Amino acid sequence: MDCIFCKIISGEIPSPHIYEDDQVVVINDINPQAPVHMLVLPKKHVESVAATTDEDQALLGHMMRVAAIMAEKVGIAESGYRLIVNTGRDGAQSVLHLHLHVLGGKQMTEQMA
Ligand code: AMP
Repeated sequence: MDCIFCKIISGEIPSPHIYEDDQVVVINDINPQAPVHMLVLPKKHVESVAATTDEDQALLGHMMRVAAIMAEKVGIAESGYRLIVNTGRDGAQSVLHLHLHVLGGKQMTEQMA
């Protein structure tokens, strides 16, 4: 499948896996928007949160939990962080493989959009 995140997960495209378990891989974003900018990628190829089904509920919860664990690990749990899931065209999703952005290490603005 011609999916950049699938290729990163499989190792075909090199990108250090800063965390990995049976369900997800976490990488650093190649174009960071904050001092900490990680991406939580499900190993299962799902195009977006809109393409998930009831079967994916545990996976979605696991992605959030891994985000919290990684935030703790890199030292931004106390200062805080922002989790983002861009979805579809108006959501400005550019890679069509579900991913959770974890952004922190600076004061975010109150602006949501
Ligand atoms: P989105 O706009 O929500 O689809 O986010 C896609 C993210 O993937 C962007 O923040 C990109 O910088 C990031 N990205 C694209 N290619 C790579 C790559 N090869 N390694 C790491 N991050 C990437």
